[in-house]
Amino acid sequence: MNIIIFGPPGAGKGTQASRIQSEYKLRHLSTGDMLRAEVMSGSVLGKQIELILAEGELVPDTTMIELIDSCIDGEAGERGFILDGFPRTVAQAHALEEMLIKNNKNIDHVLYLKVDEDELVKRIMNRVKETGGARSDDNEQVLKQRISVYKQQTEPVLPFYKDRGLLKEINGMAPIDQVSAEIDAVLKGNQAAANA
Ligand code: AMP
Repeated sequence: MNIIIFGPPGAGKGTQASRIQSEYKLRHLSTGDMLRAEVMSGSVLGKQIELILAEGELVPDTTMIELIDSCIDGEAGERGFILDGFPRTVAQAHALEEMLIKNNKNIDHVLYLKVDEDELVKRIMNRVKETGGARSDDNEQVLKQRISVYKQQTEPVLPFYKDRGLLKEINGMAPIDQVSAEIDAVLKGNQAAANA
C-alpha cells in the first residue's frame, strides 16, 4: 500500500505519518526531514536549502523530483511507503506519476488533512513554544508565507488526485485520536479489500 499524506503546514501530517509508519509498517518518506538532514550535513546543497527553508519558500522541483526518484524504487518485500510533503506542486505530481509507472507502482490513497487557517497558526505557535523554535521556519512571519505558498502552489495539486479518484478528505480539525480513526477507516478498508 502506497499513500500520500497531504495538507497545509501544521495540519498534523508528520504526526499521522509516523503513526501510520509503525502501524502499517510502511516506509515514511518525509521530504521536510530529508531536507533538514541535508542542511545538518553542512553540504553546499544543504546551505542553499537552508536559505529557502528560512524564507518559507519551496525547494526547486528538479531537486525535489531527483530526491524522491532516488527512494521510490523500493526494497524487496517492503509493504509500501507513505509520502509526507511530496508532491507540493502540480509539476511534482506529474513527475511522481511517471516515476510510479516506471517502477510499476501506484498510489492507493491521498489522505487530505483539512484544517482552517486560524487553527494552523495556533498550532504552529504552540509548536514554537514547546520546541523553543527549533525549526527556523516555525515563526509567525515564515508560517504566513508557507501558508500563502501552500495556497498558490500546493492546493492546485488537489484536483489532480480528485480526478484520479484517490482523494480522501479527513477532518484535520478533530482531536488526534479521531483523525487517526478516520484515517484507519480508509486504510483498513483497503487492507480488507486486498485480503478478500
Ligand atoms: P515540511 O517539514 O514538510 O513542512 O517541509 C519543510 C519545508 O521543506 C517546506 O516549507 C519547504 O520549504 C521544503 N519542502 C518540503 N517538501 C518539499 C517539496 N516537495 N517541494 C518543495 N519544497 C519542499
